[in-house]
Amino acid sequence: MGDPVTLPQEFIDQMVAHAREDEPNECCGVVVRMSSGAFKLFRATNAEASPYRFSIPPGELHYLFRLMENEEADLYVVYHSHTMSEARPSATDSNFSRLLEGPDDWPYWLLVSLAEEPPPVRLWRMEDGEASELTLAVDALTAGSSMVKLETSGEERRPIVSETPID
Ligand SMILES: [Zn+2]
Repeated sequence: MGDPVTLPQEFIDQMVAHAREDEPNECCGVVVRMSSGAFKLFRATNAEASPYRFSIPPGELHYLFRLMENEEADLYVVYHSHTMSEARPSATDSNFSRLLEGPDDWPYWLLVSLAEEPPPVRLWRMEDGEASELTLAVDALTAGSSMVKLETSGEERRPIVSETPID
């Protein structure tokens, strides 16, 4: 199945923490690879505020796509949580994945499940709505990596952006 996909342990821990904070609703976010090779983890808002589905608010998506365009960065991973089911893409996720296209096999889909302890974290490649599991390996943090929290409140269209360096 080729080389395993790697993510720093800090990112995995942050995604699990995000899942726990947003419980009972699903959480969501993305990992972007900058042209420098550094990775940024973006915590997004789940506009659905639902235990069954997620969507990233338009203002946050706009922010992310503009950043990727300006920085020549790529969408690497889309992550979300399942609070009561396993860490495998649902039928809803498969349909949604058809809308996303990226370079190589990207974006990968990462699922955190809160149905078990410790929470399983699994990585998937989606092709034509079909999920195949990939090996997720832990790697050292790349220099310049950071975590960015995007928050959208009420009728506000632009997200509040707070960035925390983690290297
Ligand atoms: Zn899902």
